[in-house]
Amino acid sequence: MIEVKNLKKHFIAKNSMLGDEKELVHAVNGIDFQIHQGKTLGLVGESGSGKSTTGRLVLRLLEPSSGSIYLDGRDISTISNRDFRKLRKELQMVFQNPYSALDYKMTIEDILVQPLQIHKIVQPLEYRKEVYRLLDLVGLDKGSARKFPHEFSGGQRQRIGIARALSTKPRFIVCDEPVSALDVSVQSQILNLTMDLQKEFGLSYLFIAHDLHVIRHVSDDVAVMYLGKIVENGTAGKIFKSPRHPYTKALLAAVPGQKERVSEDRRRLHGEIPSAIRMPAGCAFHTRCPYAMKICSEEIPILKNHEGREVACHLYGR
Ligand code: SF4
Repeated sequence: MIEVKNLKKHFIAKNSMLGDEKELVHAVNGIDFQIHQGKTLGLVGESGSGKSTTGRLVLRLLEPSSGSIYLDGRDISTISNRDFRKLRKELQMVFQNPYSALDYKMTIEDILVQPLQIHKIVQPLEYRKEVYRLLDLVGLDKGSARKFPHEFSGGQRQRIGIARALSTKPRFIVCDEPVSALDVSVQSQILNLTMDLQKEFGLSYLFIAHDLHVIRHVSDDVAVMYLGKIVENGTAGKIFKSPRHPYTKALLAAVPGQKERVSEDRRRLHGEIPSAIRMPAGCAFHTRCPYAMKICSEEIPILKNHEGREVACHLYGR
């Protein structure tokens, strides 16, 4: 349903230390992936890996520097804003922060009616009935419609965010860290809700998270991102049972409670992710990789098939 080919996003940043000199930020650096109807691709990586930029590019909230985004085989990265507006209702987003994503001056009814009006989803006489239906879908009662966002807990606000995303009857939703701002106790309720809605409506998700617990819970396929590139991708079963890329192994080793099950060679992640302005030569992970060899700082590894998944690492496929 969604296919992304060689997608890149480079930002120009001013370097205050160097006066007016401009530098290029390689936020997304040539990535490919597919998301099938009714399936979830989990996109995981540390902060600064380019995950959220990827989500925004797919929805054209940001214009790509190059590359293509296909929806049902049609390239939507080059169509005019006017034509894209017609598709907008099919592609929605659930934001990370349920506190700031809702306008505090609007009632929940007004928040949910807005997309119904813009995209002409139902007749005006049916707005209220549709608002109640959306609230019911996300487990909130009709009385919620009259309230304001501040009257709800974080989990309830995220339910409202999901209801708003569903209001246009989308087929594809980017969920950008939708539970990271919530208490652990309510995270699984929201995750289960997104999965129930997926089954009911055949939704496809790009699910962005830094937390592997979350990714494991929801994903059919997983793509691991590091400094703007996908370094490993495959089915969730393969990635979690037998990760191959040293970065994937390190992310898994950092999951609490996972320690006993990880083999010794899955080392913990040390140091910080490098700047996307001054990218390391060769493999971007070589500055932190416990397996780095001479070739790693000289040659960029490309994604290659290895044991039923793709991995970009000189340890494999040589
Ligand atoms: Fe480590 Fe080299 Fe593989 Fe990069 S290519 S992940 S540095 S072994």
